[in-house]
Amino acid sequence: MQIWSSVEVSIANASGHSFSVQRKQSISGGSINRAYRIDDESGRERRSYFLKLNQANRLNMFEAEAEALLALASSGAIRVPQPLCSGQADDQAWLVTEYINFGRKRVDSTQLLGRQIAALHACESDGFGWKRDNTIGATAQLNSRSHDWIDFYREQRLGFQFQLASRNGFSGSLQQKGEQLMTHLDLFFSNYQPKASLLHGDLWSGNRAFDELGEPVVFDPALYYGDREADIAMTELFGGFGSEFYESYNDAWPLDEGYVIRKDLYNLYHILNHVNLFGASYAAQAESMLDRLLAEI
Ligand code: ADP
Repeated sequence: MQIWSSVEVSIANASGHSFSVQRKQSISGGSINRAYRIDDESGRERRSYFLKLNQANRLNMFEAEAEALLALASSGAIRVPQPLCSGQADDQAWLVTEYINFGRKRVDSTQLLGRQIAALHACESDGFGWKRDNTIGATAQLNSRSHDWIDFYREQRLGFQFQLASRNGFSGSLQQKGEQLMTHLDLFFSNYQPKASLLHGDLWSGNRAFDELGEPVVFDPALYYGDREADIAMTELFGGFGSEFYESYNDAWPLDEGYVIRKDLYNLYHILNHVNLFGASYAAQAESMLDRLLAEI
């Protein structure tokens, strides 16, 4: 298959070492792509990489992911897999990154993760958004630069997902409540002015791990500059990161007291994305979040 030889050539060009895919081992846990560990055992030391595959028209998604990993790496705040190369061949696109052996947490690993995420959020920009659009799951995520967070969140986050939901057949009360929420969005920010923090953007427990030394690692970002509460809200959406995480994050940079209300506002974006990706089973959850939020108005 041409794909494997193209991956080999691309790795050799990017790394300066010849590479032959002698072993490939499927890795589960992702939600969008097929993932593999690929090994070359011909040299004195085995060399391994992490490979993601998808359809050829997903090359842009992988290029954005590689750029996001570089941006996270250059923040110096937290370990991420170093991206190596991306490309397409046959009808497939790929992304190759450093392979990281995941290990067990140390006693202080979760605390460290809290401090490192706070350090990531301390990297600020003068505007919200990013230099390019990317994806959240398999859905497009718009990142046109804006100096107004409320406009940005209304139009490029909630509004975009509500429009997609409408095209996917979710109309009626979901849309009406969405309209009402978006009209009154500024009420949630009357005493709070978010900064444009560097965000991971898809920070659920499936996108963080610990390396062999117990150091935190994050991967699979949907990066942009936005309100740091959006990242923290997502950590709470599917399981939570553990009390030590929130304690150490708050020690490093306390959250505003209005976070407890805005948490639903930020997680609504991800639940709407789940409505659009996985269907009706998430619509009831989206509506009950909307009901809670509208009750605050
Ligand atoms: P998807 O884009 O399909 O959601 P992920 O980026 O989440 O895929 O990766 C799928 C799984 O592969 C993760 O759950 C994680 O366990 C593992 N993984 C991700 N990145 C690496 C890496 N650089 N090295 C080793 N394993 C990784």
